[in-house]
Amino acid sequence: MICPNCYGSEFRLSHFRWRDLERLAVLQYPIRCRHCQERTYGGFLLALYLLQVRRHHRKHPSHTE
Ligand SMILES: [Zn+2]
Repeated sequence: MICPNCYGSEFRLSHFRWRDLERLAVLQYPIRCRHCQERTYGGFLLALYLLQVRRHHRKHPSHTE
């Protein structure tokens, strides 16, 4: 999974919107590129992975957002 805008490979979960439901139906979840803030969609497994990463960061707080 790479960003279509800057070809970066680091993402975070984006805010879910109602119009994302049709993407969710095909197991894609909205994500945002950490480098250029481009909003795109990633696979559900990637979303789950990002969710775990976010939890992990809460245990070791680093306020980057
Ligand atoms: Zn990007």
